[in-house]
Amino acid sequence: MSADLHCHSTCSDGTETPATLMQLAIDAGLSGLSITDHDTVAAYGDAFTLAAEKNLTLITGVEFSAGLNGTSVHILAYAFNPHHPLIVQLCNRHIERRQKRNAEIIELLRKHDMPLDKHDILRPRNGFSPDAVGRPHIAEAMVRKGFVKDLQEAFKKHIGDGKPCFAPGERFTVQETLDVIHQANGVAILAHPQLIERRKIVRELLEMEFDGLEAYYALFTGNNVDRWVQLAKERDWLITGGSDFHGTIKPHIRLGSSRTPQETVDFLLSVQKQNLQQIPS
Ligand code: AMP
Ligand code: FE
Ligand code: FE
Ligand code: ZN
Repeated sequence: MSADLHCHSTCSDGTETPATLMQLAIDAGLSGLSITDHDTVAAYGDAFTLAAEKNLTLITGVEFSAGLNGTSVHILAYAFNPHHPLIVQLCNRHIERRQKRNAEIIELLRKHDMPLDKHDILRPRNGFSPDAVGRPHIAEAMVRKGFVKDLQEAFKKHIGDGKPCFAPGERFTVQETLDVIHQANGVAILAHPQLIERRKIVRELLEMEFDGLEAYYALFTGNNVDRWVQLAKERDWLITGGSDFHGTIKPHIRLGSSRTPQETVDFLLSVQKQNLQQIPS
């Protein structure tokens, strides 16, 4: 089993549909995959039927956005039942949060002479309309309007964290996100801890009730990885790995470029088996 447990589809800010992601996984020689869209489980509509046809092992996943003392923290949830009402409810709250936050960003862009129409942002990709609309969708609309030359410029100058047209919106806490994942019998993993710049935040997170951390992550190699593996082992936590593939909006990342250890995959599959058998109430 060779599994990439972190990628995004057209249901959030990836450019490939869930079906294409599954084919790309096969082409990359993967036997396991989790589609971890930002704040939505829409990819899991008919994904299991498709995966079975392709002989691909699929693990349910979602990457929840959360915050701790003003710092953005991403939490990967795995192996839950995608129909679990608490998971569905948290995703719906995120969709609402995103709608409000995106409207604030659009208003700021208008004030900075970069007017966008709502329809510019909701444009479908590969025939699919996103469920969780994010800043990459706004950035792409800015490129189409000629306000910036590429996505990098949009983030760097205008809508990246702390930039003039950035609005953080409402933030859900790490604690409430962990509570929802655990109440739904899912597994909670701290996503790409390497990207969290504030050491104090990392220290606090390492004291919280995560089940594991994402030590293997596309952009980081060498000693960094060893450090995260060590920190996970000290806590008896699971170790996961994933590419964070987004398709053509992040062309430097290949699907399958980081993978999850076999023992973690086995554990997640056993949890998932139980969760999928239960009818959520
Ligand atoms: P949001 O979840 O709407 O706040 O948007 C954050 C997403 O924007 C991240 O998950 C990344 O996929 C994407 N992103 C962040 N920085 C950049 C960048 N410089 N270029 C392209 N995409 C980016
Ligand atoms: Fe993203
Ligand atoms: Fe992330
Ligand atoms: Zn991601």
